[in-house]
Amino acid sequence: MNGQMMHMPLLVSSLLVHAERHHPEQMVVSRRVEGDIHRETFAELAARSRRVANALKRLGVQMSDRVATLAWNGYRHMELYYGVSGSGAVLHTLNPRLHPDQVVWIADHAEDQVLFFDMSFLPIIEAIAGRVKSIKAFVAMTDRAHMPASSKVSNLLCYEDLLAQESDRYEWPEFDEQSACTLCYTSGTTGNPKGVLYSHRSTVLHAFGAALPDALNCSATDAVLPVVPMFHVNAWSLPYIACMVGAKLVFPGPGLDGKSLYELMEQEHVTVSAGVPTVWQGLLGYMEPQGLKFSTMKRTVIGGSACPPAMLKTFEQQYGVHVLHAWGMTEMSPLGTVMAFKPEHLRLSEEERLAVQAKQGRAVFGVDMKIVDAQGQELPRDGSVSGDLLVRGHWIIDTYFKQQDSSPLVKDGAGRGWFPTGDVAKITSDGVMQITDRSKDVIKSGGEWIGSIDLENIAMAHPAVAMAACIAAKHPKWDERPLLVVVKKPAAEVSREDILQFFEGKIAKWWTPDDVVFVESIPLGATGKMMKVKLREQFADYQLPTA
Ligand code: AMP
Repeated sequence: MNGQMMHMPLLVSSLLVHAERHHPEQMVVSRRVEGDIHRETFAELAARSRRVANALKRLGVQMSDRVATLAWNGYRHMELYYGVSGSGAVLHTLNPRLHPDQVVWIADHAEDQVLFFDMSFLPIIEAIAGRVKSIKAFVAMTDRAHMPASSKVSNLLCYEDLLAQESDRYEWPEFDEQSACTLCYTSGTTGNPKGVLYSHRSTVLHAFGAALPDALNCSATDAVLPVVPMFHVNAWSLPYIACMVGAKLVFPGPGLDGKSLYELMEQEHVTVSAGVPTVWQGLLGYMEPQGLKFSTMKRTVIGGSACPPAMLKTFEQQYGVHVLHAWGMTEMSPLGTVMAFKPEHLRLSEEERLAVQAKQGRAVFGVDMKIVDAQGQELPRDGSVSGDLLVRGHWIIDTYFKQQDSSPLVKDGAGRGWFPTGDVAKITSDGVMQITDRSKDVIKSGGEWIGSIDLENIAMAHPAVAMAACIAAKHPKWDERPLLVVVKKPAAEVSREDILQFFEGKIAKWWTPDDVVFVESIPLGATGKMMKVKLREQFADYQLPTA
């Protein structure tokens, strides 16, 4: 017997309809590429998204066609989030930090039909124009007055002209909630990038889960500033969550330096922000020397790579900003876990609580996780054994785009599929997960694993260290030993010996790095993460003093 309740497909457009009907006055504030601050209400956002949907129809875009963006976080990008997906087409967010050849490969693979771009990315458009056969038109996300005079790009259209031609009347179509709504390619450090195709259902369910109090904890009284780009896993769902809960959205546009972010946070009374650790380093690096404080910021979500405990402590103790350490991946929409407290954590001392917060946290409902050994057998949740982390859930990938014949999943005894995350983790009996490494990054010394994240976290707590990466260097006896690569803070004086001494008492002696090298910079990938693959290549022939 079926239940007898209404069936309403979970569609992305329903979030916008809700926002317009119940929070029409709420604001989307954006720092524009043109340089000024732009404001629109949710009512205006909804009306302009409908114009986008009409414009796409005029451009010949049909259900399931891919429409690409190369854009910063801003209101026009937000209008495309809803206008494209809401009309049944698939929003494909391209990463502008990739090399133009990679952009061509990905756009080609996705068979993008139209590409919308922010003016900052005109050089990329000029480099790729004519190289992706499927693209019928390029649309500059600006008004007539700011349109570029590019002779290299044919079929160049103006966003504001397109919208001006259209009516803001449009009925969002109803279709199967399993239909694709957005497409995002993984950064892929090896091999070609892989497409992750989210459905309307997975996206709406993910927004429900991610908005919960023990997840990103967003409400109508919040002003949310996503630093995490809208081209990286849908800005961790914040553009959807804001419409769902009626929160104010503040978009930083291209201004991602510490000064621009700080000023925008203060001017717009931002209460919640989200981004990768490298961004927060820039913000704190701007605020600390000037003794600046936040007046409204309450929480910040840090994820994408491990949040260094030193950063966590600074946010909590010096700025009174609560850190929500979160873990996830492109294949997971992205949210998997958030370190939200349980009652017993509230009874811990401050230092003990900070140590818990440095872990990646508890599974959000909708995601199940377990750790397994090399044979796929589940390992105990005792907080000490670590194993390969597998996940399953409503917003976890089943197959990659255009790879329907090869499943990435591994089956359990009951035939259920689990996605192998490629992360190595421990889980405590009360469900707190801690990532110890990326499986490709673990250092195997004499057959035993050394977690590079632990070593990096210790090094990052040294006052002279701006950034640290730990990689495996070849060793004739132990096979691999840890090599610490360090970027010093400007004008800091520190020696190899100082750094090594700093590890004493903080870690098992045999985990101490065998050597420290100082470099000017550590290569960062397109989403701001340290590219250890590049470092491993750079130090492939490194001779450890202990070798
Ligand atoms: P991406 O799909 O590019 O977002 O990368 C996902 C990967 O980033 C995960 O599999 C982890 O290796 C890493 N990651 C994300 N969040 C965290 C975190 N809080 N701590 C440690 N690693 C993380």
